[in-house]
Amino acid sequence: MAWVPYSRGLHEVATGCWAWFEPPGTWGLSNSGVVRIGNETLVVDTQNDVRRAGDLRAAVDRVAGSDGIGTVVNTHDDGDHWFGNLRFEDSRIIATTAAASGMRSVPIDPRRLVEVGRDGSALQRWSRWRAEFYDYEGWRPVYPTETFDGSTTVKLGDGVVEVYEVGPAHTRGDAIVHVPEAGVVFTGDILFHRATPVVWAGPVSNYIAACDVVLGLEPEVVVPGHGPVARTSGVRETRSYLVRLLEHTLRCIEAGAPAEVAYRTFDPAEYRLWPHASRAYQSIRAIYAEHEPDLPGPSWAESMEIVLEDDAS
Ligand SMILES: [Zn+2]
Repeated sequence: MAWVPYSRGLHEVATGCWAWFEPPGTWGLSNSGVVRIGNETLVVDTQNDVRRAGDLRAAVDRVAGSDGIGTVVNTHDDGDHWFGNLRFEDSRIIATTAAASGMRSVPIDPRRLVEVGRDGSALQRWSRWRAEFYDYEGWRPVYPTETFDGSTTVKLGDGVVEVYEVGPAHTRGDAIVHVPEAGVVFTGDILFHRATPVVWAGPVSNYIAACDVVLGLEPEVVVPGHGPVARTSGVRETRSYLVRLLEHTLRCIEAGAPAEVAYRTFDPAEYRLWPHASRAYQSIRAIYAEHEPDLPGPSWAESMEIVLEDDAS
């Protein structure tokens, strides 16, 4: 794999495969992917907002020419991976059944971000920043036109693209996209390359298993959901972070410690310098919810308050 710069825009990562980067890949700044075999084109994830989706669309149109874009895959239901679908309405749009259903019950309408969070909260500051930073002028939801469970294939020219459901892990309905002839996997948010992953749904054991699915495909090139292009070593790092997080949290549960203590005592060791370390709180809460289902857990807003308060510090 030739060196691929992590700069905004479309970069070829292998023959017929491109990654669209939105550095620095922080909250909501996600990657997309493009695959072209013969004269057929597939897009992986459509960006977070109207402007970014439009920029991506213009770049893909330059690759696809007059052939059009036959297929879009949304890897999961986080808005930064499908809110841009309105710029790809002329394509068929595929997602897992679980992801498509998540999109229809999205907790926050991006046009109403300024109303999110109680006064003075970190969640409110974060939501207002997002409302300013992202462009939702004229936004409307465009949902997948086809869903699948387990796995599906998309014929592209004389080749094939494989889509595997690996959730529930990061979210309820995660999928990854494999291009066998190019040795490329687009992971969605199974990989936040060189940043702390976050477990919204879990179980974490399934997130670890999803890393194993990616590794089992033995790709040359891994395009993460956020961050620069990776090799399998990047997936192994995330896997080892998640194993460490899970083992620590299970020890804390065993000892009867509350989740806050598990969070304050978690040492990510060599991953200490990854940005967004406080996402560990949300991930630890997900492990508590799975293993201690009778304990009342915090709401999403309460959990995010700690994640964001510490993220800013
Ligand atoms: Zn994302």
